[in-house]
Amino acid sequence: MEISFDREVRNLRLGAGDTFHGEGILAITKALLQSGVAYVGGYQGAPVSHLLDVLVQAREYLGELGVHVEACANEASAAAMLGASIHYPVRGAVTWKSIVGTNVAADALSNLASPGVRGGALIIVGEDYGEGASVIQERTHAFAQKSSLLLLDPRPDLAQMVRAVEHGFALSEASGMPAILQLRIRACHVRGSFACSDNVAPAISARHQLDAPAAFDYAKLSHPPVTFAHEKRKVDERIPAARQYIVAHGLNERFAGRRDDIGLIVQGGLYNSVVGALGCLGLCDAFGDGELPMLVLNVTYPLVPEEVRDFCLGKRAVLVVEEGHPPYIEQDVQATLARLDVQTRIRGKDLLPPAGEYTVEVLARGLADFVASDAGEVDIAAGRAWLARLDATRAEVAGRLAGALPPRPPQFCIGCPERPTFAALKLAQQRVGDVHIAGDIGCHSFATFEPFSLGHSILGYGMSLASRAGVSPLMRRRTLAVMGDGGFWHNGLLTGVQSALFNGDDAVLLVFKNGYTSATGTQEIISTPDEAIRAAASDKTQSLVAKNEVIERTLEGLGVRWLRRVDSYAVDTMRRTLEEAFTTDFPGLKVIIAEGECQLERQRRVKPWRAARLKAGKRTVKVKYGVDEDVCSGDHSCIRLSGCPTLTVKAASDPLKVDPVATVLDGCVGCGLCGENAHAATLCPSFYRGETIVNAGVLERIADRLRRAVIGALQPA
Ligand code: SF4
Ligand code: SF4
Repeated sequence: MEISFDREVRNLRLGAGDTFHGEGILAITKALLQSGVAYVGGYQGAPVSHLLDVLVQAREYLGELGVHVEACANEASAAAMLGASIHYPVRGAVTWKSIVGTNVAADALSNLASPGVRGGALIIVGEDYGEGASVIQERTHAFAQKSSLLLLDPRPDLAQMVRAVEHGFALSEASGMPAILQLRIRACHVRGSFACSDNVAPAISARHQLDAPAAFDYAKLSHPPVTFAHEKRKVDERIPAARQYIVAHGLNERFAGRRDDIGLIVQGGLYNSVVGALGCLGLCDAFGDGELPMLVLNVTYPLVPEEVRDFCLGKRAVLVVEEGHPPYIEQDVQATLARLDVQTRIRGKDLLPPAGEYTVEVLARGLADFVASDAGEVDIAAGRAWLARLDATRAEVAGRLAGALPPRPPQFCIGCPERPTFAALKLAQQRVGDVHIAGDIGCHSFATFEPFSLGHSILGYGMSLASRAGVSPLMRRRTLAVMGDGGFWHNGLLTGVQSALFNGDDAVLLVFKNGYTSATGTQEIISTPDEAIRAAASDKTQSLVAKNEVIERTLEGLGVRWLRRVDSYAVDTMRRTLEEAFTTDFPGLKVIIAEGECQLERQRRVKPWRAARLKAGKRTVKVKYGVDEDVCSGDHSCIRLSGCPTLTVKAASDPLKVDPVATVLDGCVGCGLCGENAHAATLCPSFYRGETIVNAGVLERIADRLRRAVIGALQPA
């Protein structure tokens, strides 16, 4: 990875007397070290990628503390790491993106939660839910309930989040339950400060190793018949112990309000938005002081029945503010009150939307309805007027801009190596006919958007080849599975390749070998060009992925007999290779490896290298493509085949040309796709390749003068 987290790594060394300033997820990272964590693992994914990224770059400092850090192959291997805390009094933390990562980890989590833990086990999940989310919309809460895991959802305030980590470990130890710490996107990126403590070197660690393993203890295995005892222990001992700890340490918070007849029960992570919404309705100030009392659940599972009862007793109505579907907490609160014979009216999803992100506006509407129905005497006229103004503005904007603004889906970076392969796939399908395409998770899923619109399904990370197994037998034409190298190592090798080989499947697999798990933040994997490869490359602009052949060797070792490596920018070669794969007599699995380094990561290497050369007065070449507007016919087929954001249109300067002509903007990184597409699809010859040479050599300068002189002489006077 070419990004440096030097500043963040320095912040990890802060101690008592220092103040940490920064983002929520980095505060959590620091809190792990303050809690004496002995080992950390995880799999990258927004919004928690930074945690692992920073710790991986802080390996030297972690080594001083004795903390082991592991970049795991997937979330299942991260969850399995927590097995260390079953027998040994060591604290461990793992992280991933939820809900998808929790799905992958589910087996290990069940088997961890059954025997329970001795050392604190903390699972930090980025709850990727809401408008900025990139995964299916489900809640982690279900996993906490079904496996009896603690679920912490701290108020988005750095000091509170740090407290949640520290108590999360202690709560896990007090109850024997592993704990999930759930962080919404906004909580990860909320900025603030907290007073630091010194980091704690773990008593048992890579620096202070154990002499012998733990004694055999059958009860620590998740294996019948002891699993029946585990289930009972969860109910009889662990959950009661957790509730006792939650109350004793005041993990859930009560905020007083001026009224005592109505109130709110709020998920901790939603607190800031609720305060914002109440403020817009004129029901509280910027610090949350106002009309409505609140019970803020920093631990959302298990609930403490007595806390819920004490808060609700004497109130006419309480609104449960719980984001997402299904309403686990609302149902839990209702069942608790019914069991305890408390008659308070519980409102929730009847007033707030049943699904979707609870933004300040969404919350304000629900809160306004709650107040109107259950405390009609409260004046919220100013808040209602604000909401009406929002509606009016939205209607006005929609009226004026309807149809004027085209949708802008996310897409490949400029110069991405995956774009040319999809151009080649489009061309190949023109010849062999349309094929069923099993998509996958990764940057290549941008091909599902215009101008490619390719892909029939996405079943999970690394699951494309497996997901076409039921489709292949139904199709006359071969199916295609698309997978990135990130997905290949995460899951695809075993669930897809191994299974297809074992079953003798006749299918085509396209693996994008771009060298990184690019979609999660360009983290390194086993097929990343390593330091030695990078150092050996004299021209840093070159793609380096071809020099690491671990994917090819793995596939050959497993028994893949039809394997092709193609430069992903070589559109015509890729087209021919795809056609061959779809039509060859070879009956088994055919794998095409599209080689081209992630352009984002490549440019992060190229830019400082180029800047250093310019500073040193060395010869530097920059390639850019362009369109000769005199030749451009204006049919824009190049744009339909490429989709590169720097290949766009402009008004023609020729008054006889009515349609806009194609043009290449300054952002072009000279990947070459424009030229390749023009050749492979026999487009008009309007593209040219330009080289800007700075600090040119003597011969180049002489040649330049000569060319200018000749061209000048040929120009009409
Ligand atoms: S991050 Fe890399 S692989 Fe992903 S779209 Fe950008 S250039 Fe392509
Ligand atoms: S050569 Fe074409 S496709 Fe490549 S970066 Fe430039 S404009 Fe985009």
